[in-house]
Amino acid sequence: MPRRKRNRRIQVPPVIKGMSVYGVRGRKSNEVILRLEEYEAIRLLDYQNLTQEQAAVHMDVSRPTLTRIYEEARNKVATAFVEGRDIIFKGGDIYFDENWYKCDSCQASFNDYENSNPSCPVCNSTDVITLNEFYSR
Ligand SMILES: [Zn+2]
Repeated sequence: MPRRKRNRRIQVPPVIKGMSVYGVRGRKSNEVILRLEEYEAIRLLDYQNLTQEQAAVHMDVSRPTLTRIYEEARNKVATAFVEGRDIIFKGGDIYFDENWYKCDSCQASFNDYENSNPSCPVCNSTDVITLNEFYSR
C-alpha cells in the first residue's frame, strides 16, 4: 500500500477512543474527529509541556508541519468545547513508535517486541490487532 505522505510517529497511544459530552439533552452530538497526530501534538505540547522544536523531533516532522498539526488540533478541541460536541480519536497519517497491539476481547493496549502474533497479557486472548488497525476502523 503506497504512503500518501510521510507518516508521523506516535509514541504512546490514547488510552480511550474518544470523549463524550456531559449535560446535553435531546440532541445527537455531531462529533469532532481528532486525528492521532493531532492528539499526539496536544499530548506533547500541552500535557508534557515540550517545546514545538522538541515535539517536532518526537513526531519526526518539520517544525512548520508540527505547528500546522497543533493549530488544527487546538481548533478542533476548541470547537468541541464551545459547541458541545464529542471527540473521536481516529485515523491520521501515523505509525506507532513501538510494537503496540490492542486486545479485541478486553480492549487492553500492550506492546510486544518478540512476537509477531502475540496474545493478550491481561486475558490471554489471541484476538489481538495492531493499533494501526484499531484506529483505522
Ligand atoms: Zn485481553
